[in-house]
Amino acid sequence: MINIAIYLRISVLEKGNLGHTEDTINSQRNIIKNFIFNDQELKKANIEEFIDEGYSGSTTSRPGLDKLLLKVRQQKINCIIVKDMSRFMRNYIEMGDYLENIFPFMGVRFIAVNDGYDSSNEVQNGTELDIQFKNLLNDYYSRDISEKMTTALLVAKKQGKYTSGIPPYGYLKDPKDNYKLIVDEKVADNIRYIFQLILEGYSLNETAKILNSEGVITARARRQELKGYDSYANRWESTVEQTIWSASMVRRILKNETYTGTFVFNKSTKSKLDGGKVIYHPEEEWIRIYDNHEAIISKETFDKAGKALKSRHRNSIRGSKSKYKNSPLATFVRCNKCGYKIRFGKSSNGKELIGINLYCYHCRMLEQEEKLPHYKELEKEVFEILKDRFHTDKTEKKKLLNEQKGFYDKNDQLSKKKRIEFENYKFGKISREDFIEIKNQLQESTEENNKRIEAIDKDIKESGSIETLTEDVVGEYIKTIYISGKGIEKIEYN
Ligand SMILES: [Zn+2]
Repeated sequence: MINIAIYLRISVLEKGNLGHTEDTINSQRNIIKNFIFNDQELKKANIEEFIDEGYSGSTTSRPGLDKLLLKVRQQKINCIIVKDMSRFMRNYIEMGDYLENIFPFMGVRFIAVNDGYDSSNEVQNGTELDIQFKNLLNDYYSRDISEKMTTALLVAKKQGKYTSGIPPYGYLKDPKDNYKLIVDEKVADNIRYIFQLILEGYSLNETAKILNSEGVITARARRQELKGYDSYANRWESTVEQTIWSASMVRRILKNETYTGTFVFNKSTKSKLDGGKVIYHPEEEWIRIYDNHEAIISKETFDKAGKALKSRHRNSIRGSKSKYKNSPLATFVRCNKCGYKIRFGKSSNGKELIGINLYCYHCRMLEQEEKLPHYKELEKEVFEILKDRFHTDKTEKKKLLNEQKGFYDKNDQLSKKKRIEFENYKFGKISREDFIEIKNQLQESTEENNKRIEAIDKDIKESGSIETLTEDVVGEYIKTIYISGKGIEKIEYN
């Protein structure tokens, strides 16, 4: 069944000159209807009208047009007829976009009567318009298209085709078939080595240290080595991961089922258009294809390593309930040498806040660790610096508070006055109109006072009173503190 949308539009200018112009809504309608009734197929169709009066053709948001496009999306319309293209859209790039991409995609036939254009006559639904931006799809349709792409991707994945962007460390994309994984023989042994170390009882940290000390190439460094993967390698900012192994990198490898020859997908869905939001699915929803590609690690080894990891993880959680979260500085301190965030470890005696032990994980991994200042000393120093710079005198703050109190008092008086005036009105001493006027005046003054109170509030806050060092206080003034073995090297303020 053909469901026709007739689109009629006149602009503000034309509307004002109604009668002079031959392009009235009526004349547009007559031309289109005449065309429809002379077509054997179209004259049997359902017809619906969409009208925009007083909108220019370059405005893309028009109520009539919006309604029409909504129905197209709902697939309630499969044919659009206009008198000429400029009635529909003045922007040719956008027009071309509709004609070349959106309407063919939605299965919509488009007819511009006076232009002699009918999309069903075009070869492959293309157009003769000068369209440079074929790929620009209108926002209206991007969501639908994104869903279709996701479905297509899922089908490819179900056939065991590797469609995720970057193959994991140890694998390469087959140069003959971009959807196939082949073993990267140059580094595959490193994967086997990592599993072996874990099974021998080394922790994630120790394993990372061993890899670093032996100069084993990291995943990122390998990606950069391989031509063509540069764009991926540069996507992440961290310079640390580039050359240094960390515990989390080792863990990622140990948990990646790809190494057993299994292709796992549907772990998460990422919307390409909806802000790139990633939705993680529960493991029950993962889909696995076994023997999809050559395995580097046997299933047995993989499971054993997983078990070892789990039991160690449980122990480490029990053992390291650290208290560094109590430290107001924890999120602000970085290593002056490498820029990496300083970790706040638990003390050697393991109980008191006093025992917070500062270290740079990055430097430790490189065996270039410096002995960092004692935590309490650092805290004291930061406190002194902040007080020096931002603490305002108490008398000055008192002055602001007094001033503010004055406005509070004034407001008290105003509301007292309001009460009195209300009683005057109630007992017939003043008229209702008078009372309302007085009441409005009092209200206005009160609001003005409130604004002053708020302004002073802001001044008080900015005047800063640094009595104790809390995370909020530090965060208000400081962005980053760089430290070395010598103490504070540099502070970046907000
Ligand atoms: Zn460092």
